[in-house]
Amino acid sequence: MRNIYDLTLKELEDYFISIGDKKFRAIQVYDFLYKKRVKSIDEMTNIGNNIKERLKNDFDMFKIKLVLKQSDKDVSKYLFELSDGGRIESVLMYHDYGISICVSSQIGCNMGCAFCESGRLKKIRNLEAYEIVEQILLIEEDIGKRISHVVIMGIGEPFDNYDNVMRFIKIINEGKGIDIGSRHITVSTCGLIPGIEKFMNEEGQVNLAISLHAPNNEIRDKIMKINKVYKIEKLIKVIKEYIKKTNRRVTFEYILLENVNDSNECAYKLSRLLKGINCYVNLIPYNETENIGFKRTKNAQIMKFYDILKKSSINVTVRREFGGKVDAACGQLRANNMN
Ligand code: SAH
Repeated sequence: MRNIYDLTLKELEDYFISIGDKKFRAIQVYDFLYKKRVKSIDEMTNIGNNIKERLKNDFDMFKIKLVLKQSDKDVSKYLFELSDGGRIESVLMYHDYGISICVSSQIGCNMGCAFCESGRLKKIRNLEAYEIVEQILLIEEDIGKRISHVVIMGIGEPFDNYDNVMRFIKIINEGKGIDIGSRHITVSTCGLIPGIEKFMNEEGQVNLAISLHAPNNEIRDKIMKINKVYKIEKLIKVIKEYIKKTNRRVTFEYILLENVNDSNECAYKLSRLLKGINCYVNLIPYNETENIGFKRTKNAQIMKFYDILKKSSINVTVRREFGGKVDAACGQLRANNMN
């Protein structure tokens, strides 16, 4: 059976037309689902009984379940169980500019980045759009507040689940629904070029982040398997096309790994690579995990790296750290609790 949170407003309109009802019914239903947040079709009070029965026959809702929540100050990690028993995590963060959620897009991940804990579990399957939508609905219900920003940076590679991720974005972006502005949504990819090429033709102003993590192929090949398929020059070329086409700034994520990619020389090489590109670089202090041998760069070297980029006129920030204590930080999701 189809899940009702899997439908865009347009698809729900088409559904009502197909059953001989009025198109505007879709807006009413969206209002119940996403504004009033009903938990069952029976609660849709001003919709006729025969239509409610029809909806109950045709659609499921809430198929994912909250299993565990761990909090530390301004961050909470949520573990969800899916209807087939698969498990995924999402992270909630309170910032001074609002509240964000980092959602997962797959169970496991096949990208095999050497430093990332999430990728130790190989991909089991893609998430359906409704399974990503429900992560947001359940977390908002838990905190009793609306979130303002969504990042698709949890477990999984979003461009390896392109259609469902785009469907998810369309659903949460809908003004008659959850209504999260496209500028408040960010997709992060390890660099799947076909995905970036498709993404530049999508409507809206959704942000793109690229997990770069190295200034050249020699280093990138060692830490990111994907670089064997899509070389750094090709990646940079397609990003330039993306910026030209969309007029949007791209974010490059760069994890600093001690003695791997954090030397001054790497910083100079990175500056040269990114010169003239409308971007900013987000330096990420590495979150160490027990199972993986990489070490975090010392703060003094992080600052040196930062200064070199800054002096080369690259827009750069150091990512504020979240969630280390509850293993909710980047690359730590599913480190414990592995299936
Ligand atoms: N597959 C997507 C999204 C998930 S990863 C991507 O690669 O972008 C989200 C970010 O966390 C990526 O930049 C990833 O490289 C980074 N990350 C992974 N492990 C990390 C760790 N242990 N510490 C800090 N960041 C990490």
